[in-house]
Amino acid sequence: MINLTLLEALEKLNSGEITSVELTKSYLERIEKYGTELNCYITVTPERAMADAAASDARRASGNALPLDGIPMAMKDLFATRGIRTTAASRMLENFVPEYESTVSQNLINAGTVLLGKANLDEFAMGTFSKTSYFGAPVNPWQLEKHLTAGGSSGGSTSAVAGGLALCATGTDTGGSIRFPAAITGMVGMKPTYGLCSRWGCVAFASSLDTPGPITRTVDDAALMLSCMAGHDPKDSTSAPNGFTCNGPLEPILGNGKKLRVGVIKEFANVEISPDMKSLFEKRISDLKSMGAEIVEVSIPNILDALAAYYIIAPAEASSNLARYDGMRYGLRVEGTDLIDTYKKTRAAGFGDEVQRRMIIGTAVLSSESYDVYFMQAARVRRMIADSFNSAFEQCDLIVCPSSAGTAMSLDTSLSPLEFYALDLFTVAMNLAGIPACSVPCGLAQNGLPLGMQVVGRRFDDMRVLQLAKHIESSASIDNRPTTIMGK
Ligand code: GLN
Repeated sequence: MINLTLLEALEKLNSGEITSVELTKSYLERIEKYGTELNCYITVTPERAMADAAASDARRASGNALPLDGIPMAMKDLFATRGIRTTAASRMLENFVPEYESTVSQNLINAGTVLLGKANLDEFAMGTFSKTSYFGAPVNPWQLEKHLTAGGSSGGSTSAVAGGLALCATGTDTGGSIRFPAAITGMVGMKPTYGLCSRWGCVAFASSLDTPGPITRTVDDAALMLSCMAGHDPKDSTSAPNGFTCNGPLEPILGNGKKLRVGVIKEFANVEISPDMKSLFEKRISDLKSMGAEIVEVSIPNILDALAAYYIIAPAEASSNLARYDGMRYGLRVEGTDLIDTYKKTRAAGFGDEVQRRMIIGTAVLSSESYDVYFMQAARVRRMIADSFNSAFEQCDLIVCPSSAGTAMSLDTSLSPLEFYALDLFTVAMNLAGIPACSVPCGLAQNGLPLGMQVVGRRFDDMRVLQLAKHIESSASIDNRPTTIMGK
């Protein structure tokens, strides 16, 4: 049962061939068997899952099945879930049990999903290998013996879906946290247009960039899941009026003489990537050509400055967002000699090194001496990048580019903070511009590990992004079930 895609599972549930209780049990068994090794869940919720599944089967029996009724999923532990501990993978929130439900998780409850548990991530979603998690890093289910990263920050989500410990999962993408982990685990990761999925109840990292989205095994599944996550939310002031609707398999956007101009970013051509990434990317481009796409070169002049701008804007917003963790109202509290001492002790004990580093950087770039030279400058670069994407989309309909330079690295690789930051080169610009981008598997490298490429679109062109991603998925046509754990 764990080999079914979301669409296949729904079909079998609807035809009565399987029940949600059976499906959920088989996932809980997988979690029992591999959960510790993969470390992809911070909290598993078996009782809740079985209750959700039984309720779902009852709904279906009475003819009231919801769009995702009975689908067992993992929720990134950044989304507040009522009555279920929500940690953001931080010691600060180790014992935090929200009294409210995030909009995205509520939307998924309303769609009939079954909650298996809360997925591991980088602390407050800051990181690229999920190694900053207070609960230890999740592991990539591919070539388990190599102890590879499942990426970050949504690394628990990608590890769970890739390893068959959830049928689908939520992620959030502030600078690449859905797309990078999806790419190196062979999964599909969709960062929708900023504002399409509500941020309400999602622990804030950098509010102008934070974007919830789906992580699934196929593009069709991502589209269906996104349509259940998205929707206007009056509780999020940046929520868009637009929804996103998709009820079944995506329609082809190529073939039968259909015209589509696909852009390739000139400035990325000189960025060093692995020979495998280069050749697979070129292969997929030539497939698109033979399917009738016109390939055009586009320029985003400042795209290589996106990293620098991101690593000013994101920490600046983080330093402001994380000021609320002071030990007074909720979260960890370490008593000091007086109020200030309590703040200091609480924050020193509650936050890990990377989170502290970001807050220090963020506070520095927002200080009056640095504001103009750093923060305002970064904001200008951001504006220029968004404008350049707009001009590029006058010459093409969609853009494609790699998701990462290479395959998953060992969790034991020691990288400096700057080396970690550099891994986000291909993903951060789309967050700065607020545009949709989907990472889709584009093939397997010589070492047998998956690689991904992105399809990028105009604001609210999420549907076409997914449609083109589906063509790439089928031309790459890899088996994205890691053999070590999904035994064939
Ligand atoms: N790796 C990036 C960072 O550390 C992206 C994180 C994210 O998208 N949440 O900030």
